[in-house]
Amino acid sequence: MSKYDIIVLGSGPGGYVAAIRASQLGFKTAVIEKESLGGICLNWGCIPTKALLKSAQVFEYLKHAEDYGLKVTDYDKDFNAVVKRSRGVADGMSNGVKFLMKKNKIDVIEGFGTLKTGKKIDVDGTEYSADHIIIATGARSRELPNLPQDGKKVIGYRQAMNLDKQPKKMIVVGSGAIGVEFAYFYNSMGTEVTIVEYLDKIVPVEDNEVSKQLERSFKKSGIKIMTSAEVTSVDTSGAGVKATVKTKKGEETLEADILLSAVGIKSNIENIGLEDVGIAVDRDKILVNDFYQTNIPGYYAIGDVTPGQALAHVASAEAILCVEKIAGQHVEALDYGNIPGCTYCTPEIASVGLTEEQAKAKGLDIKIGKFPFSASGKASAGGNKEGFVKVIFDAKYGEWLGCHMIGAGVTDMIAEAVLGRKLETTGHEVLKTVHPHPTMSEAVMEAVAAAYDEVIHL
Ligand SMILES: Cc1cc2nc3c(=O)[nH]c(=O)nc-3n(C[C@H](O)[C@H](O)[C@H](O)COP(=O)(O)OP(=O)(O)OC[C@H]3O[C@@H](n4cnc5c(N)ncnc54)[C@H](O)[C@@H]3O)c2cc1C
Repeated sequence: MSKYDIIVLGSGPGGYVAAIRASQLGFKTAVIEKESLGGICLNWGCIPTKALLKSAQVFEYLKHAEDYGLKVTDYDKDFNAVVKRSRGVADGMSNGVKFLMKKNKIDVIEGFGTLKTGKKIDVDGTEYSADHIIIATGARSRELPNLPQDGKKVIGYRQAMNLDKQPKKMIVVGSGAIGVEFAYFYNSMGTEVTIVEYLDKIVPVEDNEVSKQLERSFKKSGIKIMTSAEVTSVDTSGAGVKATVKTKKGEETLEADILLSAVGIKSNIENIGLEDVGIAVDRDKILVNDFYQTNIPGYYAIGDVTPGQALAHVASAEAILCVEKIAGQHVEALDYGNIPGCTYCTPEIASVGLTEEQAKAKGLDIKIGKFPFSASGKASAGGNKEGFVKVIFDAKYGEWLGCHMIGAGVTDMIAEAVLGRKLETTGHEVLKTVHPHPTMSEAVMEAVAAAYDEVIHL
């Protein structure tokens, strides 16, 4: 039986990062994967969706070339080529992980891993053992009982990024990051899109002002939006799909070629031996402590299969922390209150910390500053005047409680707020930090200045 110091089950951004950190720290390491290296993120999540969205954004630029003084008369999309490019980008990233495994001398074991007692794992009939086993089996699209996915007319995200024919009409159920990214992509490509959201606003986890801005932008671009609306049943017996939607006004039937169910994820905890080993689970999440140890010594869990935000950067951060703790290093528990969340439709959304509503609900005395991109030189030059940066500070102590952005390129700007919050910076320190001109990032400095009544360009 092959024996390792650390075996990682699953090779997503949790698993493969854990394996690399383990190897760096001198552990003999193996990673087990049943599909493609890189997990959902690289193969069916973060990366291929961003490739699709890039094609949509380029297409939008072509449509609006005249706004930039350019004449582009002959252009069109090739839906299959757009999908092919996205798949190619995903394959390239997966191959990159293969290279990293080789470079770090990590054994890749292909197949389905099942946990066994005594710190062993069975992979399709062959047993391996390790001093430490890290479970990083991730998640899949969640299916609602009244919205079963047949993979053809009622689909999840995997099919949505790999369709061989562009639908004319699409219903997107759920308006979290995945739902709105696909809604934007398909609408740009020319599909008629209707979003159905159960809650009373789209992108429900975001600050109210951000949700309102996205709703305005989406409606302007032709996306139909139904909030406080629930799909109660679907009928796929005809040529397309008919969805019965319950709204405050009564029942409505929507017809489309395809319905995308984007109502969240379900962890991969089935048939991996958790019950045999006795690992504690709450609903579909493996229970862990601050250092990702399960209730059974020697078994750990990280990423989407554990509680906490289901994001690639969270999985990777947990991976590094888990392995460094195994190595006996001094590590601090992850601050789940300072995790940035990004959505890559146009306009992009990026946020960290408390929303205005959450800060008020906590009874905090707050200072708010907001700077619209319509007042930014870089945004004007780029033709990206939509959106704003909003910052929230504690009025008494100056703690940076939250930062919420919507607009072009904001997903690359949020790291400033995350770092500022990590270093416990105050508003005055941010507004006295010289930002380069002209950049979109000046809007962060100006928003902070606005909170302290020192804004220059408003
Ligand atoms: C459409 C979409 C877009 C997304 N966009 C973003 C984004 O922009 N930014 C972001 O931060 N996050 C994004 N996410 C979320 C992100 O993909 C996940 O949070 C991340 O992949 C979780 O990493 P993980 O390592 O926990 O699991 P996963 O990436 O799910 O990897 C788990 C791996 O384990 C393997 N596995 C499972 N069970 C077994 C077994 N028994 N034996 C062997 N192998 C097994 C699976 O095949 C898989 O490869 C997106 C998700 C989706 C679906």
